[in-house]
Amino acid sequence: MTFLTLSHLEKSFGPTRVVKDFNLTVEQGEFISLLGPSGCGKTTVLRMVAGFETPSSGSIAIDGADMVRLRANARNIGMVFQAYALFPNLTVAQNVGFGLKVKGTPAKEIAGRVEEMLDLIGLPDLGGRYPFQLSGGQQQRVALARALAPRPRVLLLDEPLSALDAKIRVSLRNEIRAIQRRLGITTIFVTHDQEEALSMSDRIVVMHQGVADQVGTPFEIYNTPATRFVAGFVGTLNTIEAEVKDGATGRVALAGTEVVLHRPLPAGHVTLGLRPEAVRLGQGACELGLSGQITEVDFLGSVIRLRADLGGQSLAFDTFNAAHSVPPRVGETVVLGLNAADLMVI
Ligand code: ADP
Ligand code: MG
Repeated sequence: MTFLTLSHLEKSFGPTRVVKDFNLTVEQGEFISLLGPSGCGKTTVLRMVAGFETPSSGSIAIDGADMVRLRANARNIGMVFQAYALFPNLTVAQNVGFGLKVKGTPAKEIAGRVEEMLDLIGLPDLGGRYPFQLSGGQQQRVALARALAPRPRVLLLDEPLSALDAKIRVSLRNEIRAIQRRLGITTIFVTHDQEEALSMSDRIVVMHQGVADQVGTPFEIYNTPATRFVAGFVGTLNTIEAEVKDGATGRVALAGTEVVLHRPLPAGHVTLGLRPEAVRLGQGACELGLSGQITEVDFLGSVIRLRADLGGQSLAFDTFNAAHSVPPRVGETVVLGLNAADLMVI
């Protein structure tokens, strides 16, 4: 059953509409990411759900109950921010117990819950420390524990990993997801990082200029992007201009050859998208072999990122580094293998 429903949500600041007709339904226990570039309205959506911002129009319901008229602290929603926002003058244990104390929970019950939360985040012995005595990653785990301690119905995370080092970011990703699964808590996670969204989410909402461009599983978003923006924002995408020869069968001419896409196409020109991993060096078992000239070689260790020119169209692709093969050199003529089914019409 749908647990959280946002319908026709809109928000304007003065004359500027920053969230436009935003619709989303979230199942209980689902992990949803709002993914989009800076300024697209992600935080504004989250703040409306939390109750820190009033929608200009539209509705927010949790478990069938209207939220818009409730004050933030009556919504029973937990929130974690990018910049930890722990109370610097309170210990870790006091920070984690803060929400319960505000609610008037008895001290003994708070102590038990705090212990449980510190175990959950893997910091059972740090209750007596102050925030400044913790690393960034530890502070963010405490912020998570503080948000979860009052048993919120929904957890909101606004770029919680953005301020952390790359290594900690990746390990904390897994940790957050594991905790979320264990508790089964309905979660909305905001990020501008496509890799984070792809790796963590049950479903992703890709936002662009205040609008939800596409809602889907990571697999759907990556493999069948609904708009050109989604295709370009999530992952790397090569675009190839092609001329439609036969609209009914989807026969097109590209880079000096003809390909049948087996999809109806409009007459004239189409832009096709192709992921770098769908391009191979050498035809191998691929349907098509296109001749190109290497223009860039970027040795990254485990993979070599290459770029080739196919009669005026540039294609980026990767090849795995293998100890005994010599990577191609700039200027070398190569054959690129690809399959028609991997060409997206965008
Ligand atoms: P994101 O989180 O995706 O980076 P935000 O939701 O923070 O985006 O902001 C969306 C747009 O709304 C931005 O252009 C921002 O400048 C504007 N905005 C956000 N909050 C306010 C506010 N309180 N007053 C005026 N404009 C705001
Ligand atoms: Mg933001």
